[in-house]
Amino acid sequence: MSADIINGKDLAQELRANMKEEVSQLVQMGITPHLTVLLVGDNPASKSYVKGKEKAAKEVGISSSLIELPASTTEDELLETIIQLNNDDSVHGILVQLPLPQQISERKVIEAIDPSKDVDGFHPVNIGRMMVGEDTFLPCTPYGILTMLKSRDIVIEGKHAVIIGRSNIVGKPVGQLLLNENATVTYCHSKTEDLKELTRQADILVVAVGRPNVITGDFLKEGAVVIDVGINRLENGSLTGDVDFEDAKEKAAYITPVPKGVGPMTIAMLLKNTIKAAKGLVSVE
Ligand code: NDP
Repeated sequence: MSADIINGKDLAQELRANMKEEVSQLVQMGITPHLTVLLVGDNPASKSYVKGKEKAAKEVGISSSLIELPASTTEDELLETIIQLNNDDSVHGILVQLPLPQQISERKVIEAIDPSKDVDGFHPVNIGRMMVGEDTFLPCTPYGILTMLKSRDIVIEGKHAVIIGRSNIVGKPVGQLLLNENATVTYCHSKTEDLKELTRQADILVVAVGRPNVITGDFLKEGAVVIDVGINRLENGSLTGDVDFEDAKEKAAYITPVPKGVGPMTIAMLLKNTIKAAKGLVSVE
């Protein structure tokens, strides 16, 4: 058996085409969704992610602006900029590209963003809303993963979802979203004993570790759905996921590739959240 490949690049393109229609209707109503991206310092990977986000926004008709600040920016300076953007009615979504330079607390910065403009879905208010199952901005990568599963009508309810990784931006929220969809969820991390025994029970396996090819076919149950979140750059410059794709695809029923997998979906969901913000659908009093 060779797995069905869920191509995130194609799916994201489809979603962008639909969003383009939606944005043009909003523009006719006098609302042009606007995303402001804050980039602090000159991390090349961050610059490239920001470029990708701006390009995708432009494609669907979302206007965006980039505020570039030097690596020496103080926490107070960044917080002041965020307050200005919170008070600017023409800005619907605010995204602070992570990581931030060491002198700045990421937590403080995330918490300074008005939750109704938090299109990354990282603010504790939005995370709390997600946990209790309220409508909110969902964090983009987990939201993208859920959308990929739903695009193939993959049954989540009653299934055993095993998540490897427990970061606040991927592992924890993706488990929560799958729990909201009535999966039975197991979280694994670097202290998990006998990882393989757990992953072999997974109907849906989400891998968000950040190490190339840690999951091979022998970690999988026959017919599993495998979502590879990892983005690892190899010495030869190529990108690879956390899953050994060639090996795993012989055992899985569905698998996401890297590149062209979860990455493009993450950006598509950012655009979706920005449109939602422009419509004023998430208001937090
Ligand atoms: P973090 O480094 O924050 O988290 C990694 C997680 O993996 C931790 O919970 C860690 O456990 C766990 N882990 C590390 N080693 C092992 C191991 N040997 N066995 C089991 N668990 C292990 O990473 P992120 O969640 O931010 O990102 C994960 C990957 O996803 C990265 O490659 C990142 O680049 C990629 N990514 C991709 C995105 C996309 O759009 N496709 C978006 C965001 C991230 P512990 O908590 O115990 O340390």
